[in-house]
Amino acid sequence: EDRIISAQMLTEDQSVEFSLRPRFLSEYIGQARVKENLKVFIEAAKMRNEPLDHVLLYGPPGLGKTTLSNIIANEMGVGIRTTSGPAIERPGDLAAILTNLQEGDVLFIDEIHRLHRTVEEVLYPAMEDYALDIIIGKGPSARSVRLDLPKFTLVGATTRAGLLSSPLRDRFGVVSRLEYYTVGELTQIVTRAADLLGVQIMGEAAKEIALRSRGTPRVANRLLKRVRDFAQVIGDGMITEEVAKSSLEQIQVDRLGLDHIDHKLLTTIIDTFRGGPVGLDTLAASIGEESNTIEDVYEPYLMQIGFLQRTPRGRMVTHAAYQHLGRSIPNEPNA
Ligand code: ADP
Repeated sequence: EDRIISAQMLTEDQSVEFSLRPRFLSEYIGQARVKENLKVFIEAAKMRNEPLDHVLLYGPPGLGKTTLSNIIANEMGVGIRTTSGPAIERPGDLAAILTNLQEGDVLFIDEIHRLHRTVEEVLYPAMEDYALDIIIGKGPSARSVRLDLPKFTLVGATTRAGLLSSPLRDRFGVVSRLEYYTVGELTQIVTRAADLLGVQIMGEAAKEIALRSRGTPRVANRLLKRVRDFAQVIGDGMITEEVAKSSLEQIQVDRLGLDHIDHKLLTTIIDTFRGGPVGLDTLAASIGEESNTIEDVYEPYLMQIGFLQRTPRGRMVTHAAYQHLGRSIPNEPNA
């Protein structure tokens, strides 16, 4: 489902994301620690005239992993080849990609936790020795031949670092976790994006959008585009605080960036399960969603803002959520 506050990439994002994507580290807002470390590693690799160590980026969707991988290639002055775990079906597919890389290139594999095991095994010698082991022949006469590959940097991205096998994880020299952005950082991101889109926006309006963006640049950019539409149609094109507020109300994104599905999830736990605990599958069935979707898409932000807790006995709504929804807090010592 295309939710306006979805952190997942939607079709409508593609063209605009391309134009808004920062191209160098200096344009990349926030993630200070990740940026500072990468800057040092990139500089050192360049001084040694070697490719950068393999980099693993993990964290929720929409926080800038793809953007960062492109920045790494730009800063290193090399090319980039982009693919994703599920797109590489057979070991031969990966072998073809690897042998076509230019010396020093970045290979970006999104959703790297979804690589098939057999494909993953091709990666080990490639990452470690820049080599490809090929089996020639069958049965007793089969032998293994080693092919040299161009030196390259693998940048892997995942939303679920815990799902990565340890042999794969251990082969990354740099492991960086991206965090949700602060309101201040998102305000800068919105201001920068408005500038690039040629839209006028007041500081307070940028902050209003930032507040409702769930810590996620992708969501911020998308909300900005919607608000821009309202500003054009109901105003004179200028995004004021008032225009921002009323259009965000109109598209049903509340003060904390929650939409009707978040509300439904929380109120279902409150009304049907007395605030929880309720098991994931039971909850999924009552709101008509997949358990996986709840776990990957809805829950992370609700937990991040402290509205939902995962306990061994199931999901529980916290007092903060009751308050936000204007519900009176139950008496039982529950959340
Ligand atoms: P991910 O790969 O983690 O899902 P992306 O790299 O595709 O996320 O980022 C989504 C969009 O958010 C980008 O196209 C870019 O416009 C914006 N963005 C992400 N990180 C930043 C940042 N640090 N500064 C400015 N814009 C950003």
